[in-house]
Amino acid sequence: MDHPENSAEYAGLQVNAGVAQPSIVNPYLSKIRKKRHKLYTSGEYVEGILKGDVSILSQAVTLIESVLPEHQALAQEVIEKCLPYSGNSVRIGISGVPGAGKSTSIDVFGVHLLENYGGKLAVLAIDPSSEKTKGSILGDKTRMEKLSVHPKSFIRPSPTAGSLGGVARKTRETIILCEAAGYNNIFVETVGVGQSETACHSMVDYFLLIQLAGTGDELQGIKRGIMEIADGIVINKADGENVEKAKLAASHFRNALHLFPMPDSGVLPEVRCYSGFYELGIDEVLKMIFDYIAKVKDNGYFQYRRNEQSKYWMYESINEHLKNDFYYNNKIKEMLKSTELDVLGGKMTSFVAAKRLLDSYYEEMRK
Ligand code: GDP
Repeated sequence: MDHPENSAEYAGLQVNAGVAQPSIVNPYLSKIRKKRHKLYTSGEYVEGILKGDVSILSQAVTLIESVLPEHQALAQEVIEKCLPYSGNSVRIGISGVPGAGKSTSIDVFGVHLLENYGGKLAVLAIDPSSEKTKGSILGDKTRMEKLSVHPKSFIRPSPTAGSLGGVARKTRETIILCEAAGYNNIFVETVGVGQSETACHSMVDYFLLIQLAGTGDELQGIKRGIMEIADGIVINKADGENVEKAKLAASHFRNALHLFPMPDSGVLPEVRCYSGFYELGIDEVLKMIFDYIAKVKDNGYFQYRRNEQSKYWMYESINEHLKNDFYYNNKIKEMLKSTELDVLGGKMTSFVAAKRLLDSYYEEMRK
């Protein structure tokens, strides 16, 4: 049918008849899907990863992120086989509130690192909010324009499924695969709010905190104890009129850091100003990080921290498995809703309800 605007009475622009609407389903999609979902054997995944094949590495990370039990089992096999080839990297956590300039900075730090220090870089993320938004904010390639097209970089957005603990575990497992694939620098981006920082801290060798001058964040940071886990603090956006404010903020941080006891690393955290956007002071920040790494490798703290982290993750992993096993148990699933109602209706106390559920679970286990 011709468009009404083409009728003689209509004085507006000429509108041509459109083309027929194509089907909303792309007939080639099923073929593409099948190809994409092909599962390799764990040996094939490992071989591809060790060769540095980015496509296979990505697919293996997708397995880690999958909730399907068969994917999970295969992922665990791949991780186990990659373990002997992992560990040989510098893992750097990068945190800051939204708007602090994390993605701008990671883009610039990353390219500078690859161009001046060589090697390969993987950028991963821990973003607990992404579960709610169903789309990741952190580790988004479009926000790291230069790095995302660099041949030596691998960028992966935050896993979306599961609790913070689950998201963090997946990121940690992804680190292992990336290291086996030869990525000797790993950035883990995280938001500067809530517990995700602690989760990030538990898997990196260096935790960098990005702050802004004059937002009052300085004090917040001190209050929330974030400064205690920071191995270095950087004040971003030290450009234009902001330079003096940034310098002032840096001196506040330096003073505040002196009030804390000496960290276990034996190295006092340093403070630097830089501008991610204008690419000022970038090398100084990287030098600060690598100086720290050299010092802690020398005094033994680097290995000590990694050992502590391994221990922590063993317990975390046990906790998560126990919890999942409990909540995915069919009998428990059945009982949960009604028990919850009993508690809400005042028929049972929370403690009795919990004990009853656990007893039923143990009984199920004995069967
Ligand atoms: P994120 O939310 O922490 O990842 O922050 P973004 O990297 O997205 O940056 C937030 C905003 O701050 C963007 O508009 C950036 O252009 C701006 N920005 C980032 N770094 C700088 C900087 O060094 N100087 C200035 N003036 N602006 C910056």
